[in-house]
Amino acid sequence: MLGNMMFQPLLISSMIEHAGRYHADSPVISKNTDLSITETTWGKVHENSKRFANALQALGAQFGDRIATIAWNNHRHLESWYAISGSGMVCHTINPRLFPEQLVFIINDAADKALLFDKTFLPLIKAVKPMLKSVEHYICLDAPDASVAEQLPDVQFYDELIAQQPAAFEWPVFDEQTASSLCYTSGTTGHPKGVLYSHRSTVLHSYAICLPDSLNVSARDIMLPVVPMFHVNAWGTPYAAAMTGCTLVLPGPGLDGASLANMIDAFKVSVALGVPTIWQGLINAAQQSGSKLESLKRNVVGGSACPPAMLKAFKEQFDCETIHAWGMTETSPLGSACQFKAKHQHLSDAEQLQIRLSQGRPPFGVDLRITDAEKGTHELERDGRTSGNLQIKGHWIISNYFGKAESALTADGWFDTGDIATLNEDGFLKISDRSKDLIKSGGEWISSVELENLAMGHPKIAMAAVIAAAHPKWDERPVLIAVKKPEADLSDAEILDYYADKIAKWQIPDKVIFVDSIPLSGTGKMLKKDLRELYGNALL
Ligand code: ADP
Repeated sequence: MLGNMMFQPLLISSMIEHAGRYHADSPVISKNTDLSITETTWGKVHENSKRFANALQALGAQFGDRIATIAWNNHRHLESWYAISGSGMVCHTINPRLFPEQLVFIINDAADKALLFDKTFLPLIKAVKPMLKSVEHYICLDAPDASVAEQLPDVQFYDELIAQQPAAFEWPVFDEQTASSLCYTSGTTGHPKGVLYSHRSTVLHSYAICLPDSLNVSARDIMLPVVPMFHVNAWGTPYAAAMTGCTLVLPGPGLDGASLANMIDAFKVSVALGVPTIWQGLINAAQQSGSKLESLKRNVVGGSACPPAMLKAFKEQFDCETIHAWGMTETSPLGSACQFKAKHQHLSDAEQLQIRLSQGRPPFGVDLRITDAEKGTHELERDGRTSGNLQIKGHWIISNYFGKAESALTADGWFDTGDIATLNEDGFLKISDRSKDLIKSGGEWISSVELENLAMGHPKIAMAAVIAAAHPKWDERPVLIAVKKPEADLSDAEILDYYADKIAKWQIPDKVIFVDSIPLSGTGKMLKKDLRELYGNALL
């Protein structure tokens, strides 16, 4: 017997409808490409999303078409998201920091029908345009601008398109499993592959990220997603923000520490989200300017492991609670978030710090396990010590890559993340490494993340990466690649000494290489693949 309750498909359009109806006056603050600030509201974002939905229809875009965006976090980009997915089209967010060849590859692979872009990316668009096979419309997310039109003759302007359209639009109703957005993995470890989210997965993921034990988002929050909208949908925050009606502060291109500190102070941001490299910049800038980031109650760190020194700095210097979270493009991304259970509340600061350093536990809706082999199905103990291949399943986890018929899952239906981790009996996850970054020294494993975290605790080190370098005797040995803090005087011996009382002797790196900067991926992660290419033979 079926229950007698209403059935409504879970659709993204319902989120913007909710925000427009019940949170119409909640602010959406946005930094434009020219660094000016636009203050709008959820009511206006709702209205413009419908105008743009009408515009897309007028341009001949159809249900299921892919519409690409190359843009920062800003209000026009936000409006276009709701217009595209709400109309049953697929919003394909693209990372502008990809190499042009990669960009061409993914636009052609997705067969994007239209391309929306911020003015800043005009040179990029001009460069790749001759190679794009499917794009029929180029839409600049801005007011009409003669210099843009001169360089890209068939360009259309977002502001003009929406001004020509009525605000009335009836969102179509369709199957909740319909594709809503498309994001390619940033390719830190290989070729970009498309992850195609659905309306259902997106709505359920939004509920999950708002939960008190996840990011704890409410209508009282002022949220700053520093993580870009082209990086796993800004971790789902633009949806969660509409669902809760919180104030949204969109940083545009201003991702440096000083700009972020100014945004946080000026708009009284209560929660901000980003990768560790972003927070390092913020901490440095706030220390220099003397800002206490007073309004900031919590920040969410994910994408790479959060170094202990960073957690401590946020707590001790800025009275800000850091929520360490783990996820990936294939997992929408939330796979776990670190929030205490009742029994942890009375632990000492040192014990609590240990828990905070873990990537936390899965929210309801996803499940985690570790197995004895990559794509293996033999489950290992959840004892907090046994380390294995991390796998995940749940409502917002990939089943197969875009355009690929074969399943991306194990024989028994789990997704293998490529991460090596431990889980404890409460589900707290501790990532030791990516399987590709682990160092295999004479048959023993060494975690590059652990060595990096220790190095980052050294007062004279600004950034540190540890890679496996080929070694004639031990197969691989760790090599530390470090950037010194400005004007710091630091020798190899000093840093190797620093390791001596912190880890087993055989885990200490064989060599230190000081560099001016470490290459970062489009999403702010250290490109260890590149470092391995550069320094992988440093011990031969
Ligand atoms: P890419 O695969 O291109 O780097 P993703 O953003 O999908 O892009 O990266 C997901 C990976 O990032 C995870 O598999 C994991 O290795 C790493 N990661 C994400 N969050 C954390 C975290 N909190 N701690 C350690 N590693 C993390």
